[in-house]
Amino acid sequence: MGRPGENYIRNLPLQRKLMVIIMLCCGVTLMAASLFFVAREVKVLYRAQQEDLLSFADMIGKNVASALVFNDPASAQETIRPLIVKKSILAAYVVSRDGHLFARHVAPQADVGSLALEKLPREAAPAEILKAVDRIREEVRGSILTGRASLVKPIYVDSDQVGTVVIHASTTGFLNSLRWTVLATLLFMTVAFVAAYIFSAWLQQMVSAPLLKLLAVMKEVSGSKNFAIRAQRPSSDEIGLLYDGFNEMLCEIEERNQILRQRQAHLQQLAHYDPLTRLPNRTLFYDRLAQALFHADRAKEVIAVIFIDLDHFKDVNDTLGHRTGDLLLVEVANRLSTVVRSCDTVARLGGDEFTVFAQNIDCAHNASIVAEKLHCLFAAPFRLGASEIYVTASIGITLFPNDGKTVDELLMNADIAMYHAKSCGKNVFKLFDKRMNEHASERVTLISDLRSAIEREEFALQYQPKVDLLSGKVTSVEALVRWMHPRLGLLAPDRFIRLTEESGMIVELTDWVLRSACLQAKAWREAGLPPVRVAVNISPYHFQRQDVKRSVCSALAATALDPSLLEVEITESALMQNDEYTCRVLGELREMGITVSVDDFGTGYSSLSYLHRFPINTLKIDRTFILNMMKSSEDQAIVTAIIAMAKSLKMQIVAEGVETVDQLEMLKGEGCHQIQGFLVSRPVNAEHVTQFFNDDNHLRQHGSNPAGPPGAFPSAATR
Ligand code: C2E
Ligand code: MG
Ligand code: MG
Repeated sequence: MGRPGENYIRNLPLQRKLMVIIMLCCGVTLMAASLFFVAREVKVLYRAQQEDLLSFADMIGKNVASALVFNDPASAQETIRPLIVKKSILAAYVVSRDGHLFARHVAPQADVGSLALEKLPREAAPAEILKAVDRIREEVRGSILTGRASLVKPIYVDSDQVGTVVIHASTTGFLNSLRWTVLATLLFMTVAFVAAYIFSAWLQQMVSAPLLKLLAVMKEVSGSKNFAIRAQRPSSDEIGLLYDGFNEMLCEIEERNQILRQRQAHLQQLAHYDPLTRLPNRTLFYDRLAQALFHADRAKEVIAVIFIDLDHFKDVNDTLGHRTGDLLLVEVANRLSTVVRSCDTVARLGGDEFTVFAQNIDCAHNASIVAEKLHCLFAAPFRLGASEIYVTASIGITLFPNDGKTVDELLMNADIAMYHAKSCGKNVFKLFDKRMNEHASERVTLISDLRSAIEREEFALQYQPKVDLLSGKVTSVEALVRWMHPRLGLLAPDRFIRLTEESGMIVELTDWVLRSACLQAKAWREAGLPPVRVAVNISPYHFQRQDVKRSVCSALAATALDPSLLEVEITESALMQNDEYTCRVLGELREMGITVSVDDFGTGYSSLSYLHRFPINTLKIDRTFILNMMKSSEDQAIVTAIIAMAKSLKMQIVAEGVETVDQLEMLKGEGCHQIQGFLVSRPVNAEHVTQFFNDDNHLRQHGSNPAGPPGAFPSAATR
């Protein structure tokens, strides 16, 4: 088969291809069988015809032999006369040995013109007759299909040829039989072919139907991408194996698909969600907010972007450990999620910073309501494992489109508002105001100004006395730093201490404060004033840098101050950060004769029992407890507990921020040792503070008048 034919069959649909193959095989087989059958029939018929003629010639030969021997042509003619009834015999001749036409019979239906012996003239010579007989003998073989068969047979008597019989017979009968045979074969072939067609149409389905079904399943799988579909195995032959293979392949794909999907989901989770709190992360928050802004812009709606930062989160981490810090973040995330609507988003940007955006806010007032709700979430204590702590948050709010049009702008402004909330004493929420931007840029200016402030001697110290409740005498004075900013005027520490800590300049500043305070204390001594300690605040950032001792020693060495006249105030959080180191350094300072105080006690998360590990002389109760003590019985109970516990640990107690006589009386009643606060004096300049040194009883003097002497610096809390 040529290439085009081959390609044609190859590209036929499977069903057609199978049909063609089956029909071709059947056709070839039928054709071969039929040809064989017809050929066999021809042979049989031909042989029968020949035998018939031969036996006929034999019979004539035997009957005319004696007539030939006795030269009796009439008897011979008589012998062959009955041949007239044999319709198939066209002509019969008996020729004597010497070539005489001895007997002759020609049937009326014979075409005499075609008979060799008839074509001879009547008086033909014997030699011509014998020659004609020889020609007939030669023609005998190929004559059957021409419609006539001839036979030449010698007649013997005692093995002596006495003559020859020549017979011409018609082969019409033979040809008719042959025609019928061919017709019957063709008919059989046609019937067989039709049967083969019907059968093959049914047979090919056994192969093609399951394959086409498999194809349909394949199409369904690839169309729906549902790899859970399975093809039902139709049989256990090779097609069944093909189904099995296909199903196994689907199983494998499904498994891989599932793994792929899980990995994709995991990646998606990692890329868009915070792994600790499971809240959306910065990327997803930006994305969602950008979309929300787009819709809000078209619908002319207002969106509130809220920035939430936990207050003192670092202290929680440092004092209670990072695990507890993590628990707190998770709990905060859970609480925040309960307040917002489903269309709003709460996200964790990192660290202790959370953001929320609330859509469709009608006005700034509604934004404040949301912020108030968020703020209230921090009213209840957080139960973290064994500990229960109170944590507050500073919240900044900004509104789209008034405060900013882009995600970056809104987040930056919300951040500024949050910082503003922090600088307003924390635990509050603030709506963004364009003036806050000025404040933020002021921050940047202040940081750059700070670098030259020490060189330019812009810092100054004020002192606030601490008075013994029993004697009424000043026991020590706390040195509090101020910055005389060339442009902004006198700045309180809350405006710049945080900045110095963030920029690392706190070390330089503390060194300066230590040296200045020690110099002042030395000067007071040299001026003949009674020995009064000077207390210096040490920032936790500085304390953790592990060079506090070096700073203290160099200040003492530079000023030659008696170490017993120096006191250091460290915060509760600094105390809790690094047990071993803290213990060692405080111990060394104590050994040198320096007094160690814990400042703002009660705001951190340390327990009183924890304190006995440290070599501490004094606890300063934070002023918020003193402030609330009169209003809240809980705060009063805390103050009572702190005083009792500190006493049992042989520590001195100082109550900070005492402003009223009532507070003074209550503290006296509780057995507090010392007080510090506006009731005695605001922080004042060095020359003003000396007037307290010689006074016998300050409590008597200022008991009903909490205002300080002229020149006192107004505290942040009263401004
Ligand atoms: P602190 O160490 O707890 O200092 C006491 C603060 O309470 C002072 O504020 C003081 O003015 C204020 N205060 C005292 N009595 C009263 C009162 O009766 N009522 C009220 N409302 N306030 C009172 P100041 O000077 O603004 O200092 C704030 C904080 O800045 C200090 O808190 C201290 O933590 C820090 N600070 C001050 N100077 C330095 C310093 O030289 N180095 C470091 N690292 N921190 C300092
Ligand atoms: Mg202090
Ligand atoms: Mg304090």
